[in-house]
Amino acid sequence: MAARFTRRVYIGDTPAEAWHIHNVLDQHGIASELRNETLFGATGEIPVLESLPEVWVSDVNSVAAEALIKEIRSRPEESAEWRCDGCGEAVDGVFAICWRCGAPASGSS
Ligand SMILES: [Zn+2]
Repeated sequence: MAARFTRRVYIGDTPAEAWHIHNVLDQHGIASELRNETLFGATGEIPVLESLPEVWVSDVNSVAAEALIKEIRSRPEESAEWRCDGCGEAVDGVFAICWRCGAPASGSS
């Protein structure tokens, strides 16, 4: 009667985000279950806010899963924006120079 996955450890803004968490947990040997991800964007009587994708794990894995998710989310995105010293423009992390004024990225590796 008891469900195997009893702890909700994550609510994603997008299905891709929830899938990412699910995959990383899987890579670390933590079994998880995605819920609601197929409902996302579905037209119907379910409001979007109530159909956000969720990641559930079992009781024994909940602490490890939450720690892992915290770590994942504290990591800076590889394509995080940087702020141009020259003109103050927010530049996408994939660019090494400012697309607006041509100044090089400062403080980036
Ligand atoms: Zn600039």
